[in-house]
Amino acid sequence: NIVFLHGQFMPMSEAKISPMDRGFLFGDGIYEVVPSYDAKLVGFGLHIERMQNGLDAIGIKLNMGVDDWRNIAQNLIEKNGKGNLGLYLHVSRGADVKRFHAFPENIQPTVFAYAFTIPAPPIADKLKVKQYSVTSTEDLRWKRCQIKSTSLLGNVMHFQQGREAGVDETILYNQRDELTEASACNVFVVKNDVIMTPPLDNQLLPGITRNMVLDILRKDGTLHIQERPISMTEVHAADELWLTSSSKEIAPVVELDGQPVGNGRVGDIWQLAQTLYSANKHNY
Ligand code: PLP
Repeated sequence: NIVFLHGQFMPMSEAKISPMDRGFLFGDGIYEVVPSYDAKLVGFGLHIERMQNGLDAIGIKLNMGVDDWRNIAQNLIEKNGKGNLGLYLHVSRGADVKRFHAFPENIQPTVFAYAFTIPAPPIADKLKVKQYSVTSTEDLRWKRCQIKSTSLLGNVMHFQQGREAGVDETILYNQRDELTEASACNVFVVKNDVIMTPPLDNQLLPGITRNMVLDILRKDGTLHIQERPISMTEVHAADELWLTSSSKEIAPVVELDGQPVGNGRVGDIWQLAQTLYSANKHNY
């Protein structure tokens, strides 16, 4: 496995970072995961734009543009086989000489990237696709969830809650009992042919897949779309429930908190949405 670290490509076994790296000590960094199928990156420019927004939000200055990142990504794809890959891109604030909370003045960010195998994208067939089960719990993370921070303990703990309950994901709601997102995915709800997802704010990550799904469905124009707060009562009464993420695309959920979602089978609207997504994702 060939990775990129400190400006160079090297085997993973030779990649070393300082224990004084603020990414290690504080989770002080920003990351992205970009999918690539057959050496074709999906939504690359959108991912780099979000990464730059995150770096700006936390005050990391990095002299790298989308072409620099694309060059690294394409090299990693070349060096690691061209199958179904996730490209992990990571920037931490860098290694300091001491552990101290304040941002150091002159610090060189640490840039790390590697490629890992991801599952083949879902086939848009409701009888063959993997069916997901989820549980729900109150969102106990912080109030800056729009930042794709490497400080993921809150997400990790929520994901683990689902694991221990024997399901695939944990969907989260705020103190007003409104859906936010899942521990590593955005969430969509379908009711009476209307597709809904929570609006973008500080409670959720602006998912690239979420944005692409919305854009593709709006351009198609056959279904009604709403970005609005969704109560958990509505989530429990949904006809269909989907998770979206770069590595999952649109994942149909058939069980929520031990109860069937809708009729307990993958829905027709999911099949339409995933068909449109599969056909259009390489335009992003
Ligand atoms: N929400 C969270 C908390 C995530 O970690 C992710 C990333 O996988 C997503 C949503 C989905 O984002 P994207 O579609 O950009 O992969």
